[in-house]
Amino acid sequence: MSTPALPHVIRMHASDNVAIVGNSGGLRAGTVLDSGLVLRDQVPQAHKVALVDLSAGQPVLRYGVEIGRAKAAIAAGSWVHERLLEMPAARALHDLPLPDAARALPVLEPLQGYTFEGYRNADGSVATRNLLAITTTVQCVAGVLEVAVQRIREELLAQYPNVDGVVGLEHSYGCGVAIDAPDAPIPIRTLRHISQNPNFGGEAMVLSLGCEKLQPERLLPEGSIAVISQVRLQDSEHVGFMAMIDHILATAKTHLERLNQRRRETVPASALVVGVQCGGSDAFSGVTANPAVGYCTDLLVRAGATVLFSETTEVRDAIEQMTARAATPEVAQRMIDEMAWYDAYLARGGVDRSANTTPGNKAGGLSNIVEKAMGSIIKSGTVPINGVVSPGDKAQGPGLFYAATPASDFICGTLQLAAGMNVHVFTTGRGTPYGLEACPVIKVATRTELAQRWHDLMDLNAGPIADGTASVADVGWQLFHLLLATASGRKTWAEHWKLHNSLVLFNPAPIT
Ligand code: CA
Repeated sequence: MSTPALPHVIRMHASDNVAIVGNSGGLRAGTVLDSGLVLRDQVPQAHKVALVDLSAGQPVLRYGVEIGRAKAAIAAGSWVHERLLEMPAARALHDLPLPDAARALPVLEPLQGYTFEGYRNADGSVATRNLLAITTTVQCVAGVLEVAVQRIREELLAQYPNVDGVVGLEHSYGCGVAIDAPDAPIPIRTLRHISQNPNFGGEAMVLSLGCEKLQPERLLPEGSIAVISQVRLQDSEHVGFMAMIDHILATAKTHLERLNQRRRETVPASALVVGVQCGGSDAFSGVTANPAVGYCTDLLVRAGATVLFSETTEVRDAIEQMTARAATPEVAQRMIDEMAWYDAYLARGGVDRSANTTPGNKAGGLSNIVEKAMGSIIKSGTVPINGVVSPGDKAQGPGLFYAATPASDFICGTLQLAAGMNVHVFTTGRGTPYGLEACPVIKVATRTELAQRWHDLMDLNAGPIADGTASVADVGWQLFHLLLATASGRKTWAEHWKLHNSLVLFNPAPIT
């Protein structure tokens, strides 16, 4: 599992004129590569080396795709850092060709016989955790919710051993918002669909205030959840704070008793709804972890499962690859429409997709959003894209879906929960302790160094792919088996330490 001491560079595609340094300490100037190329500069790990002399204006190719043009001549063996590259313009959307409706889609070989132990729900979905959800209509009740959830954990949960936990769905929406604005349905349906997440077993408690704009019946219209109960804090029966808390606990008990009757049973792998995401990316994300996730995506889709890939600003530069993989011309058109909507949303704020990259991405060797996008889209594997999920909507699986969400880790995770995700895969190169309370998050490290340093935060190490001791297929299969085990109840490190991020709503509508 250790990095070979020999100088080691990784090229992704035969046409690439750059490769990235694999060695954990980087490589010194004067190092001679296998090919005989001599490094002219010290090049840090995960950063790019010019494999040939590049003239000014020449396309720099990685993944067989132009990630930029050389601003000036770059000699073979030089460090190709971000300041030497001119980023290409975003592909126009209006003249993208749509796939031919009559073309033959690749036939996928079914993957049969894989199962996990899950909780069946009445609507046909399957839970990987047995959780009580307390959903809320407005931020005003968040403090009361926190006290109540704490008391439920301390005083009640021990009596209900088959219940994995209680989740307070706290958020910043509900009042002080333009609730009838054209984009307001996005945060509202996000909250509604999160309450319907399979891991909540088809029931929800609603905690409301009374005078807020988002009334309980607007959040959860009749029939949207099979078993529902309500506590409204401004009702006259609550004389004092403790009466509110006692009422919440008594209501919670009625749900806990029912949830406690649930048992895991063997279900096919097709019941998985897996959201894939990356965060804190480096140049290895697109070399190790994301290709392994992509391999696993193909396995999951072949097994009949549903996979969601997202992060619009990170796949915008791969739009031509995406439309070419669309199952139908209609699916391709919906991708284009979602991206056009997002382009306009960013333009309204005075930025474009290039605002995505972070200082950490650049320090990790990613020059710009085009390079990041090519490493990000690999998570979606090679199978056809069956559908598009608008922000806050639910996926109607099976198959691979583009869930159009921002790339922001917590907003993407929140929207994938709304889409029906019951297990989450998250790759990271720089490292993030990300987690969600409503759904297990499997974190995949891109580098062995990170996996060793954060040995009790990372669930899987894709670093051996860069080290040359495992293949993409090896790690893809490891992830597939880990997904089934995790869905069956095996705890992730984030669950072990009780680490989770807040729900963060995507609200493109105005605040009043
Ligand atoms: Ca992300």
